Amino acid sequence: MNDIFSLADELGPLKIIHVHQPAIGLKGILVVDNVAGGPSIGGVRMAVDVTLEECARLARAMTLKNAAAGLAHGGGKAVLMGDPKMPKSQKEVLIRGFASALREIEQYIFGPDMGTDEECMAWVYDEIGRAVGLPRELGGIPLDEIGATAWGLSHAVDVVQEFSDFKTEGARFVVQGFGAVGKNVTNFLSAAGAIAIAVSDSSGTIYNRDGLDVRELMALKEAGRPVTEYADGEKRDCDAIIDIECDLWIPAARPDVIDEANLHRLNTKVVVQGANIAITPAAEAILHERGVLCIPDFIANAGGVICAAMEYQKNSEAVALSTIEEKLRRNTREVLQTARQRQISPRQAGLAMARKRLEKAMSFRRWQLF
Ligand code: NAD
Repeated sequence: MNDIFSLADELGPLKIIHVHQPAIGLKGILVVDNVAGGPSIGGVRMAVDVTLEECARLARAMTLKNAAAGLAHGGGKAVLMGDPKMPKSQKEVLIRGFASALREIEQYIFGPDMGTDEECMAWVYDEIGRAVGLPRELGGIPLDEIGATAWGLSHAVDVVQEFSDFKTEGARFVVQGFGAVGKNVTNFLSAAGAIAIAVSDSSGTIYNRDGLDVRELMALKEAGRPVTEYADGEKRDCDAIIDIECDLWIPAARPDVIDEANLHRLNTKVVVQGANIAITPAAEAILHERGVLCIPDFIANAGGVICAAMEYQKNSEAVALSTIEEKLRRNTREVLQTARQRQISPRQAGLAMARKRLEKAMSFRRWQLF
């Protein structure tokens, strides 16, 4: 495990809490990165290979995302070690035990992430009364079902048209990862007149240069089938999604999928990042130099956490969607305007914007820290 102090800088983390309860096999970590804007929001990731470093990186990403989105929340993240597909009764014990151990840490609001879902958040809520991403029956807004993150991505894409020769109408786009984010963004963009030519999931890639039938793909997914069972397309392996020439490429699966070794294979005008940390910073900088317009993850995919923050304040689904639209359009425009004026990348412009908001929030705090 990393040296804890090597993870710290002037923004955080404020607290790192290690939870270990051998009696129930519970091992987890909470990183509260920065609470200058308010109590931190960030999901609980459950996997067998989670680490402190991953947790700290993700917590920092939430600090920047929440500050950029102008939410009254700081950034935090929790990781729980274990197979998320373990028997439900065993998972419930771990989730309830983790929540109970962190009962007093009011600077962290639990949310769902990979390996946890709204049912897990219902257990947390029952245990300590502090969670977002709850089931509808408990006043939650099911953000994946309504496509909150994808809704934000589609607005970021719309704003890109003001800053490049990209046009959504007729644009040929590719989506890596046809899950909650990927399938909803495919749906929104095709409704706006763009043409999905390839999508992938963990089973592989499906490609048709004339366009895929999005309704048929959605129906396949709803039936729990992989995209490679789509009939009218060419089947390729997972990795092949990177090589398909397009106008817009959307990562919506795993971290670090584009790096310096494979970025030469990308052949697109625009990248709008649905997945977190999908492109390494070095690869993104090179893409920018080559004239590919990249909207960074913490700007483009903020729709999910904006929705969670709206839920926490007991707003309706309609208010959540209109807030996502407003914030995503404003931020994407501001980032692209700054990037153009200062001749820097959208990521550099986004980071400067988030940092400025964060530093202002921190300046109001006692000791001006965190
Ligand atoms: P999900 O589990 O619903 O979907 C992920 C999809 O990616 C699945 O279809 C899976 O088969 C596919 N996949 C996995 N490995 C793949 C590979 N190697 N190649 C191609 N496809 C692969 O997850 P999601 O909620 O849609 O999240 C996707 C990404 O977006 C994650 O990085 C997540 O952190 C990020 N994100 C999600 C939200 C949200 O609101 N759900 C918000 C912000 C960021």
